[in-house]
Amino acid sequence: MILKKILAFISVISMAVVINACSTNPVTGKKDFSLISKDQELAMGAQAHKSVLKQFKRLNNPRLQAYVNNIGQLLASKSHRNNIRYTFTVLEDPSVNAFALPGGYVYVTTGLLAYLNSEGELAGVLGHEIGHITARHGVQQQSAGLASAILLEILSKKAGKSTAKSLGQLSTALIRGYGREHELQADKLGAEYLARAGYSPKNMYDVISVLKAQEEFSKYQARREGRQPPSYHGVFSTHPSNDQRLQTVINAAKHIRTAGTRSPNHDGYLRQINGLKYRIDKNRTGHIAIGRVSTPGLTYAQLARRSVVDAQRLRLLNGQFPNGEPVPGRLVKIVE
Ligand SMILES: [Zn+2]
Repeated sequence: MILKKILAFISVISMAVVINACSTNPVTGKKDFSLISKDQELAMGAQAHKSVLKQFKRLNNPRLQAYVNNIGQLLASKSHRNNIRYTFTVLEDPSVNAFALPGGYVYVTTGLLAYLNSEGELAGVLGHEIGHITARHGVQQQSAGLASAILLEILSKKAGKSTAKSLGQLSTALIRGYGREHELQADKLGAEYLARAGYSPKNMYDVISVLKAQEEFSKYQARREGRQPPSYHGVFSTHPSNDQRLQTVINAAKHIRTAGTRSPNHDGYLRQINGLKYRIDKNRTGHIAIGRVSTPGLTYAQLARRSVVDAQRLRLLNGQFPNGEPVPGRLVKIVE
């Protein structure tokens, strides 16, 4: 962050301290300890959105951007906070990631899109991120963090460098995720928005399974290459695994009347991501290609011969790691 921006940031914050010490949470209806009002949240989001677009590349694919945006807008319209404008952006980045900024900004990377296998799963990702916005997690985190940053500044009487550092850490925290309690609440809200939009809340589990499989695959690959498994970073690293509390919050959404009335749309989703750039490793990039499984008994080992990645990678991409095989009649992804 450049100095001018930091100064602008700080002036917004000090205004916030004066004007607003409390605001209503759209999800709980209760007062939050928040230094930031709705208008300030929207302004902060718009500013941060500009920095994200400077740091990342917006994917130049209007058709796919529109597809993601349509699903996002549908979910947002069913959310607790449908009175703000939402912006959904696909970033061209090989990391497997999705994140939200205060004020209605949601991002998903091409790295994550490559691993999803249905529109329902994409809706699960977007619903979860919308949940962070509706419950104002970013704003709460900003407030707590900035409050301590301001305090630190007063205590040390050192402006400038130390403040810049705390602000830097805060923006990292925003992109990395929000901690276990907030993640669980975002899953709960995500499941609810899925159900209200007609998707099955079960898609929330499927998304978590996709991320879990990523972790398992990294361990498998590291073992095979005789190296230490990498520690797992990214927004989902603190996600609750398949536990009781998660099941409770997701199952609650099954009772919503419209839950599961919309198809998860596996084939339609795969058609949307056909041709997407896919990073195989540090040195190699390929493209996602799709085809219909017409031969019963076709294996990933056989498909791997037509692909530039091995059978296990194909299983991972198709949501069937570590021991699934292609389903006859369905579309399947390979990498060319
Ligand atoms: Zn999250």
